[in-house]
Amino acid sequence: MRPSDAIRTYFDRAADLLDLSPSMRRLLLTAKREVQVRIPIERDGGELVTLVGYRVQHNDARGPMKGGLRYHPQVDLDEVRALASLMTWKTAVVDIPYGGAKGGVALDPATYSTRELERVTRRFVDEIHDLFGPDVDIPAPDMGTTADMMAWIMNHYGRYHGFAPACVTGKPVDYHGIPGREEATGRGVGSLTLKVLSRLGRSIPGTRVAIQGFGNVGTHAAKYLADAECRIVAVSDAGGGYHRASGIDVLEALRHARSHAGRLEGFAGGDRITNAELLALECDVLIPAALGGVLTAANAGAVRAPIIVEAANAPVEPEADAMFADRGIVVLPDILANAGGVTASWFEWVQNRQHYQWGVDRVRGELDRILGTAFEHVWQLSSSRQVPLRTAAYMLGVGRVARATALGGTA
Ligand code: NAD
Repeated sequence: MRPSDAIRTYFDRAADLLDLSPSMRRLLLTAKREVQVRIPIERDGGELVTLVGYRVQHNDARGPMKGGLRYHPQVDLDEVRALASLMTWKTAVVDIPYGGAKGGVALDPATYSTRELERVTRRFVDEIHDLFGPDVDIPAPDMGTTADMMAWIMNHYGRYHGFAPACVTGKPVDYHGIPGREEATGRGVGSLTLKVLSRLGRSIPGTRVAIQGFGNVGTHAAKYLADAECRIVAVSDAGGGYHRASGIDVLEALRHARSHAGRLEGFAGGDRITNAELLALECDVLIPAALGGVLTAANAGAVRAPIIVEAANAPVEPEADAMFADRGIVVLPDILANAGGVTASWFEWVQNRQHYQWGVDRVRGELDRILGTAFEHVWQLSSSRQVPLRTAAYMLGVGRVARATALGGTA
C-alpha cells in the first residue's frame, strides 16, 4: 500500500466520526504546495550526479508549516506527501501553532562523503529558499539528516535572506540550536511508553522492550526507557539486530555504534537476529523506530508484543492495524508517539525568534507537559468514544485543523 493511501485510511475514519463535509475533507486532503527540484552535484571524484528533491507543504491553517527533511534512497513524492499530511495532524494533536510539511532527497547518505552531502544540502536550498522560511515552512532533521545539515541550511538560507536562525530547527547547540532538541523525539517516545504502561496497570521495572532502529529516535528512546528500569531486550539497525533476554547494555551498544560509523554490526552484547525476528520477539513493548510500512498484513500475525509504540512515521499499515485491534494489541500512534521532536523544534524556533535561551530542564519540563496533556486528551477521547488510540488522535488533530480552517475562512 502506498504511504499516502495508508494515512488516507486513518484520515477517513476520523473524518467520518467527526462528520466532516465532503468539501472540507477535500480541502484538508489537498496539499497547499508540492515542489520537485533537480539537484545536480559534483561527486568528490568529479562525476556529475543528478538527484531529485521534494518539499510538500501540506497545510498552514494553524500556523507556519513544519516538517523534517529525509535523505533516504526510497524517498519519492508519494512518501513525502503522506509524511507532510502526517505532520499537519501531529502538530494539531500536540496543539502547537504549526501546520505540516515534509521534504526529502532520494539518496543513500551512507554512500556520500560529508562534503558531498553539504553540496547536496546547499544546492537543495538554492532551489527552494524562496519557498520556506521562519513564517512559512521550517524544515528539521528526519531519517538520514543531521544537526550539521540543518546548520548548512540555516547558513545557506542566510546568504539569500540574511540572519534567520528560525528558518530551520534541529540545529547544533553551538549553532543556534537548543539543548534537549536532539533527544526530544526519543524522550517523548520513552515518556509516553511509560504513560501507556501505567494506564494499562502494568509495572514499569523489568518491562521487556524491543526497538527497531538505532538512530536518533531509537537510541534516545532506549536510553530513556533503560533509565526507567525497563529491559531493552533487542535493538537493531539497517544491518540487523541483537537480542539479549536479560537486557542489552544500551550504553555499551551506543559506544559500539559511535565507534563504528553509527552501526551496530559486530556488537558483542547480544545474539544476532534479523529485523523480521525482532518484530516477532516475545516482549512487552515493540518500538519500530526506523522505516515506515514495516508491520503489514503479512507479519502482523507474528507480533507477540501487547503494546506497539510507533516511534517511526507510519510503521503500521492499516491491515496490520486492524489485526492488532482485533487481537487487543494497543498501538500508540506516530502522530502522538513521536511528536516530541516537533514540539522541541517549536521551542527552538521560539527561542531563535526571541534571541533567548532556555536551559535543558525547562525544555524537558515543557516537553513533558505538552506531551502529557496531548496523551490525556487522546486517551480520554479513545475511552469516551470507544475507539483505538489512533482514531482518537486523528479525531483530535483533524478536528482542530478543520476548526481553524473554518475560522480562518476559505474565501
Ligand atoms: P536516523 O537516520 O537517525 O536513524 C534511522 C535508523 O533506522 C538507523 O539506525 C538505521 O540504520 C535504521 N534503519 C534504516 N533502514 C532500516 C531497515 N530497513 N531496517 C531496520 N532499521 C533500519 O533516523 P531517526 O531520526 O532516528 O528517525 C527514525 C524514524 O523516526 C523515522 O521514521 C522518522 O521519520 C521518525 N521521526 C524522527 C524524528 C526526529 O526528530 N529525528 C521525529 C519524528 C519522527
